[in-house]
Amino acid sequence: MTDAGSGDIDTVISADPATAGGPDGGETQSGKTKSRFWARLRKNKVALAGAIYLVFVVAVAILAPYLTSHDETFATRFQDILFSPGEAGYVLGTDHVGRDILTRLFFGSRYALMAGAEAVAVALIIGIPLGLTIGYFRGWVDRIVMRFVETVVAVPAVVMAMAIIAALGTGLTNAMLAIGLVYSMIITRLTRAEVFAAREELYVDGARAAGAPSIRVMWRHILPNVAPPLIVQTTLLFAQAVLAEAALSFLGIGATSSQASWGRMLRDAELSIDRTIWPAIPPGIAVFLTVVAFNIFGDGLRDAFSREARGGRVGVGDVVKTESGPDTAPRQADSLISVRDLSVNFPIPGSDEDVNVVQGVNFDIAKGEVLALVGESGSGKSITALSLMGLVPDPGIASSSSISLDGRELVGMEFDELRTIRGKDIGIIFQEPSAALNPAYTVGRQVAEPLRVHLGMSKSEARQRVIELLGEVGIPDPEKRIDAFPHQFSGGMAQRVMIAMALSCEPKLLIADEPTTALDVTVQGQMLDLLGELAAERDVSVMLITHDLGVVADLADRVAVMYAGEIVEQGTLAEVFAEPQHPYTEGLITAIPRNESRFGELPTIPGVVPPPWDWPNHCHFAERCEYATDACLHGPIELMPSASSLTRCVRAGELDLAGVRDRAEEGS
Ligand code: ADP
Ligand code: MG
Repeated sequence: MTDAGSGDIDTVISADPATAGGPDGGETQSGKTKSRFWARLRKNKVALAGAIYLVFVVAVAILAPYLTSHDETFATRFQDILFSPGEAGYVLGTDHVGRDILTRLFFGSRYALMAGAEAVAVALIIGIPLGLTIGYFRGWVDRIVMRFVETVVAVPAVVMAMAIIAALGTGLTNAMLAIGLVYSMIITRLTRAEVFAAREELYVDGARAAGAPSIRVMWRHILPNVAPPLIVQTTLLFAQAVLAEAALSFLGIGATSSQASWGRMLRDAELSIDRTIWPAIPPGIAVFLTVVAFNIFGDGLRDAFSREARGGRVGVGDVVKTESGPDTAPRQADSLISVRDLSVNFPIPGSDEDVNVVQGVNFDIAKGEVLALVGESGSGKSITALSLMGLVPDPGIASSSSISLDGRELVGMEFDELRTIRGKDIGIIFQEPSAALNPAYTVGRQVAEPLRVHLGMSKSEARQRVIELLGEVGIPDPEKRIDAFPHQFSGGMAQRVMIAMALSCEPKLLIADEPTTALDVTVQGQMLDLLGELAAERDVSVMLITHDLGVVADLADRVAVMYAGEIVEQGTLAEVFAEPQHPYTEGLITAIPRNESRFGELPTIPGVVPPPWDWPNHCHFAERCEYATDACLHGPIELMPSASSLTRCVRAGELDLAGVRDRAEEGS
């Protein structure tokens, strides 16, 4: 028992802290995510059984004095020595000095839980602040502390604890204090690793840039994100502490003979082992079950927290339902997707408030139509696209009154149902194909993945289909190329693979987020032609995201111009290009590089998109707009019909803005 026990402790201690929860364990604190966490935990029957057993142990520990008729709990009665179970009314028999084993077993749960709690409390009280501090400040403090931590952690916990007990003196409290000290090193290491991951993230940088003091950044921003792996690790350490208590008490340096600890009961049983093994069995089983229960419950917590279970690396924040405003346009009859009142919030680093990163976005895409979403980097285009799939990164929260896809409402849809739509009804192509393809697998295998998951194809069916698909997206020699690895493809060819993958399940909507930005100019054109053909041939609707209005000219049917979280102009391609109604659109048009006249400076809009927390309450573009007047600085501006498009500009109609045609004339 003891040997096996300390072996287990070793494994846990030498295990990489990252495996005990991992940096991916972070969650938002939103209620939605929490309820999903509980739903996942409830579905895990094994973890649930562990939890129920633990509740039972706690109940026994609390009620121990009332559960037994032997009020003389620990009294020694020499006439009753070593009774077998059932004999003379002793359900589990008696031990070598005549004590009722059942009674001692009940009281033993108190010692087990108290000992575990003490060790874990010590570990957390020391480990968390220490881990946060060295993880946050790094440098020489970190190097010195970590050297020490690694040394302690390298030695088995029970052995280390024995050394500490030698200094502190024996007894249950000291033993668990010693175990707690050893475990605090594990907590320190885990917290530090999590802090390293968390402090790289945007919100921490933001909080520091916003001047939040270090202590505040640590407790308010980092700790909530490192909490899930810590909770998991704490549960697992609790199991190890119960085992360590048993081991140390068995060795006689933990509980004393008058304390009915399970480990002590095992030690006492050993004294009479040559006459009967009965007294060893109940405490042995109790320790075993309790340790297993804590472990499976901890594993269940880890699975429930893990992002893997939520369907991918990007955090899933599904879309929160809001009421539609009084003048929300109804869904257009022919639209495939129709989005209403879509907003996305991110918490402002270093404060309690949120910022709107996307505000009140409405649009429709008809079947087979190509909508171009254009705007500079930082306008909120990618976030808009991701919210359609329920993929807003943590800790963002998307809300909308309605997102309907082919008649199905996505807002409020169950997570599992949404997952079937993602990748099947909606395909997505990202900017950087090499980043989206896994270098370790052949492209054939990666394109086949959605076919097998969503369409349930067999291996050979999927392979056949992948060859067809690769051919359709213009990859020469697909029978051979299917077995090549991503690094054997050029950027353009890799992007074609991405397109094949996005198209594999015949999506109704294809989202292409800057699909050509990473490619050469010549390849860009081919890629756009391909997208255009696919849209026309297969009748898929396309949402083409780009920062370059020039890219959309041949392809788009309609254009939505986005600036600082809002759609500022929306209309058909012809309308928007010929007669832009918003100064920002004019700016984007003038920024299109002109092949015919390559002289002079590229006319661009001065400045960049400000960060979301600097967006004013009035027109977001006013500060960069050459036409801005006083009227632009008062209150939010609505999207209003102007000429034949919709425009968010108070001066729409009175300005004479330059469209593509004007530029052509001026250039000639
Ligand atoms: P675009 O695709 O138009 O370049 P994005 O949709 O990526 O813009 O980003 C819009 C805004 O959302 C950015 O200004 C950025 O500040 C904010 N943002 C994007 N991702 C995150 C994130 N993970 N955390 C916090 N803010 C984010
Ligand atoms: Mg983007």
